[in-house]
Amino acid sequence: MDSSKRKEIVDKLVNGDMSLRDVESAAEPNDAVPILREAIEKLSKTSLKSIGSADMDYSTIKGKNAENVIGMVSMPLGVAGPLHVRGSMADNRVYVPMATTEGALIASVSRGAKAINMCGGATARVIKDGMTRGPVFKFLSVLEVEKFLSWLPKNMDAIKAAANATTRHGRLEGVEPYVMGNNVFLRFRYSTGDAMGMNMATVATEAACTAIEGSFKGATLVAVSGNMCSDKKQSLVNAIEGRGKTVVAEAVITSDTLQRVFGTSASAIQEVNLRKNWAGSARAGSTTQFNAHFANTVAAIFAAAGQDLAQVVESSSGYTWTEDRAGDLYISVTLTSLEIGTVGGGTGLPTQKECLSIMGLAGAGDPPGSNSLRLAEIISSTVLAGELNLLAALSTRELGKAHQKLGRAKPASAEQNSKS
Ligand code: NAP
Repeated sequence: MDSSKRKEIVDKLVNGDMSLRDVESAAEPNDAVPILREAIEKLSKTSLKSIGSADMDYSTIKGKNAENVIGMVSMPLGVAGPLHVRGSMADNRVYVPMATTEGALIASVSRGAKAINMCGGATARVIKDGMTRGPVFKFLSVLEVEKFLSWLPKNMDAIKAAANATTRHGRLEGVEPYVMGNNVFLRFRYSTGDAMGMNMATVATEAACTAIEGSFKGATLVAVSGNMCSDKKQSLVNAIEGRGKTVVAEAVITSDTLQRVFGTSASAIQEVNLRKNWAGSARAGSTTQFNAHFANTVAAIFAAAGQDLAQVVESSSGYTWTEDRAGDLYISVTLTSLEIGTVGGGTGLPTQKECLSIMGLAGAGDPPGSNSLRLAEIISSTVLAGELNLLAALSTRELGKAHQKLGRAKPASAEQNSKS
């Protein structure tokens, strides 16, 4: 685009004569992004040099990942590990990419991984898999609701056919009804291959709902998402029924390793787990998160590997369980609703795709679905490493010290000044 046209658009934006979204139709993405950025620089009187510094082909984002794009934010990316993950999809050591601004987090997970590796690795298994969408229908009365509940199972083949026609990899596995007054919430559950599956499930559910309305007179769809899904919100239904992957990772850490790596014992960790993760969480009124810091590890991997960040809410629900086995520590984590994918959403962005490649998991798996299952095994095992280390650090009262050292270091120039 020539400079006079560019200036004209920037001026219109600054003067309020053009909306941000109109720029996307007036210019190609790789022109639109710097134009929007220049307008925002002028309006905010701020240099956006760093935001504009990414080497990025913005045409790959348009229509997929974001609107009104002005550049990219960057954050520190580290790798934790290696971590030995013994899953059903693979049994090997992996480096786990984690994007975070919390100093000490990656070191903490790596120390946990070291202890796990010394004891043969983490064993991980996905025990339930299915993405859900929960539309809400309204009926005239509970008598209509009663008729509908008896009609539903008899018509499941037609409902499945309508949903499955919209996707190659998505399959409707079941529909669970929940009633409140004259409202019926249908919780649709799909297998979604390597995709996290939220778009897939939404499109398929819309088609199924149209089929339902067409066949059962008196059922009126109010919203394709009626919050029984439950997407991006804390809920007991996800914790009990699962959403995405329900996955368990476990390890047995010998007393010798506990002593050598952490300077602690199984009984000390067991006591912290019991009084903090179980008694403390119960006393605090927690309903789905009886753990020390699942969210730390989940969020850092989600940011690195292009997962939907808002789904950290339910993806970090779960339980840390420990047993003192004659001095050795059995430790497991259960993540009830880990919502992840290796295709779709942000997984195709260049840096995110490279992060998935570090774990050997970019794109579709062979067979389909195997990459996302492996990602669940790796994430849960990394969460296990994080839990082990934090419980150990709390049991020896060194949490504050570690954060002082790794989370509060002064920049080199400040260090210099303080010494002079
Ligand atoms: P998607 O990119 O919308 O769908 C996945 C695509 O990958 C489909 O076109 C699928 O084709 C294709 N595909 C190719 N190989 C595949 C394989 N091996 N396994 C599975 N699919 C394969 O991604 P999504 O996971 O459904 O949705 C994720 C996005 O939804 C994220 O961007 C997220 O932020 C967003 N989101 C949407 C909603 C919503 O309400 N719509 C809510 C929350 C989040 P086929 O379908 O033909 O198989």
